[in-house]
Amino acid sequence: MARVKLEHVTKRYDDGEGGVVAVDDMNLDIEDGEFVCLVGPSGCGKSTTMETIAGLTQPTEGTVYIGDRDVTRLPPKDRGVAMVFQNIALFPHMDVYDNISFGLRLRDFPQDEIDRRVEHAADIVQLEGMLDRMPDEMSGGQRQRVAIARAIVREPDVFLMDEPLANLDAKLRVHMRTELQRLHKELDTTIIYVTHDQAEAMTMSDRIAVIDSGELQQIAPPLVCYNQPANLFVAGFIGSPSMNFVEGTVDENGVETEHFHVEFDPATIDELGVGDQVTMGVRPENVHPSIETDEISHPSAPISAETDVLEPMGDEIFAYLLMGEGETSMAQETASSDQLLMSIDPDSPIEEGQEIDVVLDREKIHLFHAATGDALTHNLVAPASGGATDTRAETDD
Ligand code: ADP
Repeated sequence: MARVKLEHVTKRYDDGEGGVVAVDDMNLDIEDGEFVCLVGPSGCGKSTTMETIAGLTQPTEGTVYIGDRDVTRLPPKDRGVAMVFQNIALFPHMDVYDNISFGLRLRDFPQDEIDRRVEHAADIVQLEGMLDRMPDEMSGGQRQRVAIARAIVREPDVFLMDEPLANLDAKLRVHMRTELQRLHKELDTTIIYVTHDQAEAMTMSDRIAVIDSGELQQIAPPLVCYNQPANLFVAGFIGSPSMNFVEGTVDENGVETEHFHVEFDPATIDELGVGDQVTMGVRPENVHPSIETDEISHPSAPISAETDVLEPMGDEIFAYLLMGEGETSMAQETASSDQLLMSIDPDSPIEEGQEIDVVLDREKIHLFHAATGDALTHNLVAPASGGATDTRAETDD
């Protein structure tokens, strides 16, 4: 087990035109035994960050610590890390036992120690009874478990996993997520896990490190990233479907947008100035038909809209709403100030093309600085407000 620390790590690749900054002044402090996901869109620098920890690439600047050791210049084999990658490279002509034990045999471990470790690892990944199978007799999920067992037998201080589930089908991926969580509990070892899939990161990690353009945007527990995103990027990346964003201007008692006004309690956002440009963010589940206003304690004033497209998902319906004169069908497109996405009950009677009044839950509205994207506040209602009029029930499911 070990703590992993990156101090001001920058990785620049020379592309002949001034260079690509793959990782930009990254500071990360991962606790001993923590499960941290590095998440972000393709090309944001997740794998490069991981490779600097693994020792597969040298940072241009900065220091990498594993435990108390500065490992920045150490080769991968001396770092106490084991890696699992997306592409599972098993030896096709070796059975499971030989695949798992290959590295140990190479390093001349005594046979009884090899047996002990392989049995223990096979037990953890639930491959007992399959040790004499050949890789082509196994499913994708089983092969991935062999790859994980091969990492476990090394008894590393840190597991580094780079999109290990990306090649599995959707159902197996969900199953393997729970397996990895169980594995983490059993081994109690630091796991650093790269994924572009925010759902994977949300469900597995103790903390998520959200990366964009080589820069760390936020590192926090999943629900903190969800409920208190540090900036517009995190707000838009975490959560599916994505948060609604509407441009607005701060006035004396709230935020004015093109199609509606939302009141706020001045005590919550003292730092804002009248006339400031902001981006308002609200998640689809925090937009409600106004007839359901009873369910929330601090609704905004009603907003007139028209339902454009309805997407029934089974357990909920996504309703794409148009405000004002929005003339085109905009489902699936990036949000503009003319549209809102609302999540509603599956048995809601709402139909496509219907005029509807909706409200926003002011307790769940986020405001971001329009120019920098930094979060300004995550709640337009003062924390101790309401009292006698606060009828809120804990209805979130
Ligand atoms: P991610 O894992 O988030 O998809 P990467 O870390 O693989 O992102 O890449 C980050 C950036 O660095 C990308 O712009 C990528 O093109 C660039 N990059 C990665 N590896 C190299 C390399 N060996 N040479 C040049 N550029 C690279």
